[in-house]
Amino acid sequence: MKRFAVFCGSSIGFNSIYSDAAKNLGEYFFQNNIGLVFGGGKIGLMGVIADTILNNGGEVIGVIPHLLRHDEVVHTKATQMIFTKKMSKRKVKISQLADGYIALAGGFGTLDEIFEALTLGQLGIENKPVGILNTNGFFNHTLLQLDVMVKEGFLKQTNRDMLLVSQDIDELMRKMNKYMAPTISEIVQTIASK
Ligand code: AMP
Repeated sequence: MKRFAVFCGSSIGFNSIYSDAAKNLGEYFFQNNIGLVFGGGKIGLMGVIADTILNNGGEVIGVIPHLLRHDEVVHTKATQMIFTKKMSKRKVKISQLADGYIALAGGFGTLDEIFEALTLGQLGIENKPVGILNTNGFFNHTLLQLDVMVKEGFLKQTNRDMLLVSQDIDELMRKMNKYMAPTISEIVQTIASK
């Protein structure tokens, strides 16, 4: 079974368009036999996608650090909940379980996780697809910042292109499924040309 990690808000957002997107992605996962790996919370968009998959009988694996082990935060119905000592260990565990990463709308935590995944790809430490579901153009400004980084010489276009983006779930998943990571020699060439 394929599993994707989904990083998304521990908040629900003001516009229901974001929770609808989390529900729709959960339904897509269930219908396509994709397991969810996530931050283990029952709050915000995290809770919405986890509940959608669980209500349909799909697989949900949470990975949560001990410090967040509060009743009001941790999801109690996940197929499996893995507790880690630290945030850093949680990231390692998520990466061991997931075949790719997707971000939905979120805050600092979501950006931290998705950019760490991109950084691992950029260094060739991982070769998994990293995607953003750009619901309602939520990430448009973030994407513009990436273009500024390319324009100003701080990000290679080839690395910028690693980030897969779509507002549409089917299109994003098609891109994720056919993603080809840069080869090691391409990565070395990119690093050497900095
Ligand atoms: P944020 O985008 O700042 O709301 O943070 C959400 C992301 O960070 C999720 O993908 C989680 O993996 C992690 N995270 C942040 N807060 C929590 C929490 N209270 N419980 C579980 N995971 C969290």
